[in-house]
Amino acid sequence: MKCKQKRSIPTKLNAMKTPIFVIQKHDASNLHYDFRLEVEGVLKSWAVPKGPSTDPRDKRLAMPTDDHPLDYADFEGVIPEGEYGAGTVLIWDRGPYRLIEEDDDTPSMAEQLKRGHAKFWLEGKKLAGGYALTRTGSGDDERWLLVKMDDDKADARRNPISTEPESVASGRSLKAIAEER
Ligand code: MN
Repeated sequence: MKCKQKRSIPTKLNAMKTPIFVIQKHDASNLHYDFRLEVEGVLKSWAVPKGPSTDPRDKRLAMPTDDHPLDYADFEGVIPEGEYGAGTVLIWDRGPYRLIEEDDDTPSMAEQLKRGHAKFWLEGKKLAGGYALTRTGSGDDERWLLVKMDDDKADARRNPISTEPESVASGRSLKAIAEER
């Protein structure tokens, strides 16, 4: 009986598991960065053409895309011709994220996204600190802006998109992934 209790995963602890984010560099018809946040069991997703910045003055366009299943966060490889998103995918950054709690009533990430403004703290290998996603426009014109918050992780001199292009999962370049298919 004691043994059985030890093996079971307490549901409360499981529910409190830290959510993850992943940024997949995607060399499809247009090169872009798929920014994904784990929210309520799926990966909420945006395509960011220029990729994220570490400079709070940059507002990066983020186009909403379809939710992806959680296990897609581990995908790195080649999507064959003729399939949706055909091209090479590289895991550019990933790690845990958390809500930025400004008071006791901080809404959940799902609620913040529903309201069109979400703030979160990333703990990746390349990106860290606060970021905000803000919705502008609605319906067919829905788009979002991804902006670095002005905190001690902000750094206008860094440009990891160009200086750190390789995969955090495998160390490979897009070219190497495409060739190793
Ligand atoms: Mn994509």
